[in-house]
Amino acid sequence: MNYQKLSQKDKKYLWHPFTQQQEWIADKDITIITKGKGTFLYDAKGKKYLDGVSSLWCNVHGHQVPEIDRAIQKQLKKIAHSTLLGASNEPAILLAEKLVKLAPKGLTRVFYSDSGSEANEIAAKMAFQYWQQKKPAKPKKNLFLTVREGYHGDTIGSVSLGGVDLFHQIFGPMLFKTLKVKSPHDYSSRKVSNTQWLKDCVKEAEAVFKKYGSRLAAVHMEPLMEGAGGMLAHPWGYLKAIRRLCDKYEVLLILDEVATGFGRTGTLFACEQEGVRPDILCLAKNLTGGYLPLAATLTTEKVYKAFLGAFESTRTFYHGHTFTGNQLACAAALANLELMEKEEFLANIEKSSQMLQEFLEPIVAHPHVADVRLRGMMGGIELVKDKTHDIPYGYGEKMGYRVCAEAKKLGVLIRPLGNVIVLMPPLAITRKNLMRLIEVISLSIHRATKD
Ligand SMILES: *Cc1c(COP(=O)(O)O)cnc(C)c1O
Repeated sequence: MNYQKLSQKDKKYLWHPFTQQQEWIADKDITIITKGKGTFLYDAKGKKYLDGVSSLWCNVHGHQVPEIDRAIQKQLKKIAHSTLLGASNEPAILLAEKLVKLAPKGLTRVFYSDSGSEANEIAAKMAFQYWQQKKPAKPKKNLFLTVREGYHGDTIGSVSLGGVDLFHQIFGPMLFKTLKVKSPHDYSSRKVSNTQWLKDCVKEAEAVFKKYGSRLAAVHMEPLMEGAGGMLAHPWGYLKAIRRLCDKYEVLLILDEVATGFGRTGTLFACEQEGVRPDILCLAKNLTGGYLPLAATLTTEKVYKAFLGAFESTRTFYHGHTFTGNQLACAAALANLELMEKEEFLANIEKSSQMLQEFLEPIVAHPHVADVRLRGMMGGIELVKDKTHDIPYGYGEKMGYRVCAEAKKLGVLIRPLGNVIVLMPPLAITRKNLMRLIEVISLSIHRATKD
């Protein structure tokens, strides 16, 4: 179907996620993707774009990857889907084995779902039920401690755990209460040294543990860098300190590695960089290489065992989705992880990350760039209206969107988070294309911010 017809039908029938539809409908040049190859996307007008956001942070090896294509086609010749309720299947079994092998030590059980939001809901419900059922039970441990600016998805449980006011505030009355500590990231208002800042943040967390330790079921957080909250990097040592507090006060640590997992921050999992092992780990984006929806919540034997008992004990984890353990998705994930296991995968990320770092250095000096943050291949460039007086662009100024609109003209698709330009290229991007991405972003910032 031609572009005009598709565009008309889109505007007539679709409702896009995280999108002001009134603006979308007024846009005469909406992007309609028809094809992807490598790290490029092609639209219905025949234009080619660099996939600068990894199709929303999930594409790893590019589009039309022969190994993943073949794995899905092979699986399709057998069966697309059968349920994991009361039956099992080969790709789900083999993928669980592989995930346990790759994940931080101690995580030995895999519970599947379809999205990062669900992986986080499952983690929270698992932790809650664990304390009700472990022997001896500690039913009073039913509170969650979370970090402000955290993002764990858009379902109600995940929103309860989240702390991004713009997305979450309106739903306040629908949410369960959580305890919150400040995000350890705070570049603008920070007047103290890094060491002092880390101390202050840990002290705040410690005070909550002291007061509520016996009531805390779990700490639920993103490690190293909070993604959707604005690419907010945490100081080194914060995660380790939280793990220590969790151990001291007998609290579970749930890490949401939906964004950071599978190489994004330079190691297979971000928590490895702090030598931390969670009790529950949430994975989704990147799991199938960006091909199909699939998520996993991993946990320890200790947590898992609290759910065992006779049928009539009703200790079962009563949770599951229709497509839990879907064969096509698991087959894609297996092929994706096999590619990741090759030695050059992490080595390449390290090289690309170094290159990114070098390219970003001059951008910091730009009069409208307040801050540049990078962890591996996950980063953000924060724009500011008045650098000297630390005055941000107003929400209505749409500066992030304006930069992205300039980038689109130059053949690069990216998506901002408020005034933060997100750096999330496909992990296997070539150095040449990475250079192109950075050049276009710099030029777009320049064009959009010049008065
Ligand atoms: C994207 C994201 C989620 C939500 O995942 P969905 O698959 O979009 O539901 C949760 N946590 C983090 C850290 C994310 O980046």
